[in-house]
Amino acid sequence: MTDRLFPFVPRCDEPMMESSLPSAQNHLIELLPKKDSQRLLAQCEPVQLQLGQTLCEQGAAIQHAYFPVDGFLSLLTRIDHHPSLEVGMVGREGLFGASVALGVPTAPLQALVQGPGSAWRIGAPALRAQLDMSAALRAVLLRYVYVVTEQMASSAACLRFHLIGPRLARWLLMSEDRAHAQHFHVTHEFLANMLGVRRVGVTVAASKLQRLGLIRYHRGEVQVVDRAGLQAAACSCYERQRLAYSHQLS
Ligand SMILES: [Zn+2]
Repeated sequence: MTDRLFPFVPRCDEPMMESSLPSAQNHLIELLPKKDSQRLLAQCEPVQLQLGQTLCEQGAAIQHAYFPVDGFLSLLTRIDHHPSLEVGMVGREGLFGASVALGVPTAPLQALVQGPGSAWRIGAPALRAQLDMSAALRAVLLRYVYVVTEQMASSAACLRFHLIGPRLARWLLMSEDRAHAQHFHVTHEFLANMLGVRRVGVTVAASKLQRLGLIRYHRGEVQVVDRAGLQAAACSCYERQRLAYSHQLS
């Protein structure tokens, strides 16, 4: 079994033209029988996700669902006057808009592009029609909803019980899995917001990971240099979520 959420695919930095898009490269679509995936993809359009773009606000109607290919999203929640907090992440292992499969037309969370890249986009009515036609698609998306529920429950416990350093290591591993690259751009301020901690806490934790030779961090560019070491430093939530996904959606 791989120690990643899904196999590593080198990042392609070339602009992605429709004709050069692979058949799916989203794991949920790849789990479908060929006729179901082809029928679904015929209703999808390839789009480029831009860093910092909000695909849907919390509580807003879902206009489109997104199956990321090499872009990825943070799922954020906000209560009262507090800054947004990340409670989930979606890359090519998942989709944004799964609540459509539950018959709910609104998004419970904000979807913010954290890693730019390509995705398949489908209108919510078209996705509902596909769900009506494909038992396989219904089964895959409902299993994915289960995995996301598990992910969010463990995020709540992680926030309460795990220290910043191991949480940061987990976050970097989750991002690396979805960025399909060993380096990506992120600031301490962004990390602090995502993890729900003060910026100085992130600075201390990132410095420690760097001193241990697990990452390099320079001007917002993070490079994972020792993945095995970073996994050893991460809290147990990373492995728990990886296993939950592989049990349901392999
Ligand atoms: Zn944790």
